[in-house]
Amino acid sequence: GTNARNGSGLSGRRDAVFGPAMEPLSYDEPIELTSARGVWMAATDGRRYLDTYNNVVCVGHSHPRVTSAVARQWRVLNTNMRYLHHAAIELGERLVATCPPELDTVLFMNSGSEANDLAWRIAKYHTGNTGGLCTDFAYHGITEAMADLSPEVLPAGVSAAGHVETWLPPDAYRGAHASTAGFADALARLADRGVAPAATILDGVLQSDGVLDLEPAYVQELVRLTHASGGLWIADEVQGGHGRTGSAMWSFERFAIVPDFVTLGKPMGNGQPVGAVILRRELAERFARDTVFFSTFGGNQVSMAASHAVLDVLADERVLPRVEAAGDALRQAVREATAGHDHVGDVRGMGLANGIEIVTDRASRTPDPAAAAAVKNGMRARGVLVGTTGRAVNTLKVRPPLAFTADDVPTFVAALTGALDDLPRS
Ligand code: PMP
Repeated sequence: GTNARNGSGLSGRRDAVFGPAMEPLSYDEPIELTSARGVWMAATDGRRYLDTYNNVVCVGHSHPRVTSAVARQWRVLNTNMRYLHHAAIELGERLVATCPPELDTVLFMNSGSEANDLAWRIAKYHTGNTGGLCTDFAYHGITEAMADLSPEVLPAGVSAAGHVETWLPPDAYRGAHASTAGFADALARLADRGVAPAATILDGVLQSDGVLDLEPAYVQELVRLTHASGGLWIADEVQGGHGRTGSAMWSFERFAIVPDFVTLGKPMGNGQPVGAVILRRELAERFARDTVFFSTFGGNQVSMAASHAVLDVLADERVLPRVEAAGDALRQAVREATAGHDHVGDVRGMGLANGIEIVTDRASRTPDPAAAAAVKNGMRARGVLVGTTGRAVNTLKVRPPLAFTADDVPTFVAALTGALDDLPRS
């Protein structure tokens, strides 16, 4: 539909072959890519773009250690987990070592959706309950079960499935303080329908809700309320994991909680499809009594090689402290450069998970999705790629590969202020 402007005619062919269910292309003028390295992507228009949007390529596009590990492994062996091979076992051991001691068991899959789906399925087995809780504008994946827990992709006006309740996370910018009443109400609404929770699922950086930073005490109370009603806690680390927040490997560590499940995806393989659930042994045992778990591609040696290489780079290149410094530098520079821009309501984030909220004006704080889209497209025209997120789709999503450093900040800020200056004056 809207993506007709592409010199090579690929946009029209894309629409024709993929049809209307496929997500639209990013940007009014879609980008046709040729290659990428680090935080830079090259396109057929002869330009290169600073990528501040792609979190999947955790340690950077085409990182040489990941690509050589994957290429080497492809030449040697790639098969399933019915045979002994050191790579999956060692990766499991490494992942368990990053978690609290209660989380001692790993299952490998191929995506974040699959990881969440399996955690949810095991939570239902273990608790005997059927209810689920997620944030008001959450996204947790594409399986049928995860679609029910992904209000972000429910068409407007379609309410969640009967076994699901949502709650509105606190928005510090609008002065909604960390009361857990909304969550308790959601539990009560489930109980009114005779439904007990199997699990609450939370993305620790609330990416789709607009990138919100929650207080530890708030999340701790949600975990307590979930457990008290018989449910389990799923920490979805597909967005916040693998060092995204800078302060820790996993975003749940910010809250000083012990989840029942930790689910991994996207950044885990730097673009090679892979996912995992880390869970307590007793949860896996109950599930194993009732079924046999096997994923054809889960744990394959190529995905394991990519995942090991990501962990190696995170450790050897001391990425996490750099992420924290780059995030601090980015937010500070954006705040300073946009101090006079009435459209910039809030600049927030954790490490390199950042949101810049675009509003009609600072006094009213009214979300301005049209201006946010214009800034996104204006930045693309200036060679810097961002996305938009949040319930009102008015927050710029700034989520670069972790190879982004303080040196990239001026490029980002110049594109942002340029795009803001182009907005019609209100
Ligand atoms: N959980 C979260 C928080 C996500 O952001 C996503 C993907 N956007 C998923 C799960 C699903 O991951 P995938 O698309 O790799 O299945």
